[in-house]
Amino acid sequence: MRAELISTGTELLLGQILNTNAQFLGQRLAQLGLDVYFQTTVGDNGARLAEVFNAALKRADLIIVTGGLGPTEDDLTKETIAETLGLEMFLDEESLTHVQEFFKLRGRKMPETNKKQAQFPEGAAIIPNKMGTAPGVIIEAAGRIIIILPGPPVEMQPMFNETVVPFLKKKIGRNNSVIHSKVLKILGMGESTVEERIKDLVDEQTNPTIAFLAPRGEVFVRITAKAKTEAAAGKMINKIEKEIRKRLGDYIYGADDDSLEKVVAGLLKKHDLTISTAESCTGGMIAQRLTNIPGVSDNFMYGVVSYSNEAKTGLLGVPPEIIEKHGAVSEETAIEMVKGVRQACGTDLAVSVTGIAGPSGGTPEKPVGLVYIGFSDRDTTIVQRFLFTGDREVIRWQTANAALNMLRRYLIKYKR
Ligand code: ATP
Ligand code: MG
Repeated sequence: MRAELISTGTELLLGQILNTNAQFLGQRLAQLGLDVYFQTTVGDNGARLAEVFNAALKRADLIIVTGGLGPTEDDLTKETIAETLGLEMFLDEESLTHVQEFFKLRGRKMPETNKKQAQFPEGAAIIPNKMGTAPGVIIEAAGRIIIILPGPPVEMQPMFNETVVPFLKKKIGRNNSVIHSKVLKILGMGESTVEERIKDLVDEQTNPTIAFLAPRGEVFVRITAKAKTEAAAGKMINKIEKEIRKRLGDYIYGADDDSLEKVVAGLLKKHDLTISTAESCTGGMIAQRLTNIPGVSDNFMYGVVSYSNEAKTGLLGVPPEIIEKHGAVSEETAIEMVKGVRQACGTDLAVSVTGIAGPSGGTPEKPVGLVYIGFSDRDTTIVQRFLFTGDREVIRWQTANAALNMLRRYLIKYKR
């Protein structure tokens, strides 16, 4: 089955929003083992939508269109497609009730234009939308399957997962193969070292395949398997994953949807430890990332953004002489910051960061990207020096990563 995606929306053409629907659907269709040969984006214009839709009808078996299901004048996807296929529109009472309910629940009166969202091309199956008002549509006509979904990703994604995937699986039948992948996430080891350690595996494999990605100072290893069933693909992936884990050990911090902060928060919870942070160049990024994780309030107690020297000396008790003698970005300052914050907050653990994120402020002795990270528990205080490259944002991100990773490495070995 050949699939084609049509994304509608003038804002996509103008570059005002990124086409994440195409990314999401592209990935999902590949997982289902469907070939996507074309993706097109078209503005909110009936004639041009009809043009790309007609082209898709000629070359694809499955056409997925997103966007333009709203109540306004420029939302014309269903109408245009119905017209192209020569189908009349009908009003679905159940959908109308759903739209009316949606407004009622929010204490608002339904504008007359919203009635449009309950109208569908004849013969269409309706995909319910739990997150919004516009239902989706499945049309089987002219030997093709046409699926229309709303533009907002929060609405489109659950509709696709819950209704379209089961529908497509039934259509695809048993003869198709599925593509399944797993991403292993690595920190603290460079891409070339990772590659060196598993190069023989990469060279040997054609299925599963192994690919490298290196986003912002991390390394991702993606294992992709093609098989008859998801379970079979999973098995193939497991086998390679085991071998990769043997070679990379705890440089692998997680897989797939894991984030570093999620892993760290989990470990803090597991060991029932509290933590505080004192951040300079990251400006609270570590605290922000930790607090992204629900339930971390039992463990993350305080986050101090000690950006100025006054904050470091006043709030954290870093002796002014230390800063004068060694500078705010120094091993000594990082140590005093972490000791100070742990003491002030009375937590089991603490981390501190101080560094030069740039673009200005670097010197030959202390260049942009130089970062010291302090870590302290009840017994010991350590400090590590890093030299990151990249722009300000990348340096700050990598600094937060390194601090969280120091924590993770401590926590995975932690014994009471
Ligand atoms: P609405 O009822 O909200 O108008 P709609 O189905 O008519 O939904 P659009 O009007 O095309 O959809 O888009 C609504 C919003 O959904 C856009 O402003 C954008 O925020 C988001 N959106 C639409 N298409 C995409 C896309 N391809 N990728 C990411 N976001 C998108
Ligand atoms: Mg709209």
